[in-house]
Amino acid sequence: MNIILLGPPGAGKGTQSAGLVERHGMRQLSTGDMLRAAVKAGTPVGLKAKAVMERGELVSDEIVSALIDDELASMGPETGAIFDGYPRTAAQADALDAILAKNGRALDHVIELEVNEDALVERITGRFSCGNCGALYHDTANPPSEPGKCDACGSSDFRRRPDDNEETVRTRMAEYRAKTAPILPGYEARGIVSRVDGMGAIDAVANAIDGILAS
Ligand code: ADP
Ligand code: ADP
Ligand code: ZN
Repeated sequence: MNIILLGPPGAGKGTQSAGLVERHGMRQLSTGDMLRAAVKAGTPVGLKAKAVMERGELVSDEIVSALIDDELASMGPETGAIFDGYPRTAAQADALDAILAKNGRALDHVIELEVNEDALVERITGRFSCGNCGALYHDTANPPSEPGKCDACGSSDFRRRPDDNEETVRTRMAEYRAKTAPILPGYEARGIVSRVDGMGAIDAVANAIDGILAS
């Protein structure tokens, strides 16, 4: 199974990817996570990407497609792939088709998380994650059950992303509308797009996604 989770920043792609990994043993391929790791490690890719990410603009198609190509090559054929935050442009969508074909894979579903844009700023500015295990939280919608302590690993080392501020979110939303939303019609023509109401509770969204995967 190979699926794309599509939706604007804050739609819930990372949260739902983590659930899919847990429930179905799939692998999450998040270009955002890969880029943040590269920035942290100070690699050449990280040095190129850092300022672009801080502005909320898109990193070059060549860089992100190379990251996906490498990651997929390291996966056994039995492991399903969740593409989270990739592809984000028409060129990336074309690159993904080529990368999948090279690996003997095909896209099964493109799942669009539909959200009300007004909710996104609130979602993004309330987002934080565990610095130890990466678990995702939200100040009000999804806080740890014990304040200050990660449910998954017990760490109290929480982080906020430097690009999770209102101004940058506006740029990221504009990038999504201008460059990412236009890739949907191509997938629709292939009959593989499903839509899920991303405004529901996290569990309800997860159930809807599982329904699509089982169909
Ligand atoms: P979110 O999940 O909030 O949409 P991501 O973690 O996916 O954010 O991405 C964070 C930033 O990393 C983006 O604003 C962009 O600068 C860069 N980025 C991530 N994925 C891509 C991609 N596929 N193409 C170009 N830039 C990307
Ligand atoms: P994306 O990867 O699409 O940018 P995330 O999965 O990181 O989005 O979610 C953004 C924020 O919204 C996080 O703080 C997360 O805890 C919260 N969140 C995710 N899904 C929901 C939901 N269905 N309802 C309320 N908050 C949610
Ligand atoms: Zn943790």
